[in-house]
Amino acid sequence: MMRPTRIGLVAFGAMLLAGCAATATQAPVAQPVSPTSPAEPPKGMQWLYGSGEAAATSIQGYRAFRDHVLTAIKARPRDSVVLAEGATLAAPRWVPCGNRPFAVVLDVDETVLQNLGYEYDEAITGRSFDSPRWQRWERTGAGQVAPIPGAVTALRALRQAGVTVIYNTNRESVHAAQTADALNRNGLGPVKHRETMWLAGDVGTGSAKDARRAVISERYCVVAMAGDQLGDFSDLFNAKALKVRERREAAGRGDYAAMWGAGWFMFANPVYGPSIRGGFDDVFPADKQWRDPGE
Ligand SMILES: [Mg+2]
Repeated sequence: MMRPTRIGLVAFGAMLLAGCAATATQAPVAQPVSPTSPAEPPKGMQWLYGSGEAAATSIQGYRAFRDHVLTAIKARPRDSVVLAEGATLAAPRWVPCGNRPFAVVLDVDETVLQNLGYEYDEAITGRSFDSPRWQRWERTGAGQVAPIPGAVTALRALRQAGVTVIYNTNRESVHAAQTADALNRNGLGPVKHRETMWLAGDVGTGSAKDARRAVISERYCVVAMAGDQLGDFSDLFNAKALKVRERREAAGRGDYAAMWGAGWFMFANPVYGPSIRGGFDDVFPADKQWRDPGE
């Protein structure tokens, strides 16, 4: 399996169980479908898949994405938004655009497609991520996904403006037909494997996406990228040695800070992925750890 870690679900599950225990004596709660399944989906899923707030967030993000690209292509940019070989977190360098045609590069899962069926299965069973089940999902789940609000409209407008829409996803190359079907039937295509849809195993190995980005940016001037994880923009952010706060700081300073909303567009995913980790001291700076002094 190529999908990033899903430790978040465990945390949300624990939060949910704590919440159920607290509310059981206060108010009636929905009955679980089986003795082992929770009464409600985890909080992150309630937000991402159930809330109007999440719909508004992604529509707002895709409007900004579309508008940025339509403006950027009016005056040919010198550089692509793909990092060049040799770039570091301290010193970004960008692939020059030359005269290549314009493209945008997007992640798939929780960037353009919501994996409603898979997440339902995980939530209702209380199981955490496992690779064989995800593989079965890639093979059989095309009917139980939905486009993220805002994506179809924005990508249609970009195609009409002559921009090529390319997906770079860690879904498996062997499931190309099924992933293409999921994208196409949700209004996100048309896609063609190894031309406008790049999958894990197409170039190099593993879940790193830089090699695929390099191939794409040899063919196109990439004017914007979209994702729900930092690795959708550069593998540099997934260096094992990066601690939680270091990773946050790397994404939020200097030339990288200047990319958000201006070539790099991040979509919220509080359900799974490398964003969901960290202990109290990682999440809360030492000088901000207030404790209630009492009355
Ligand atoms: Mg994703």
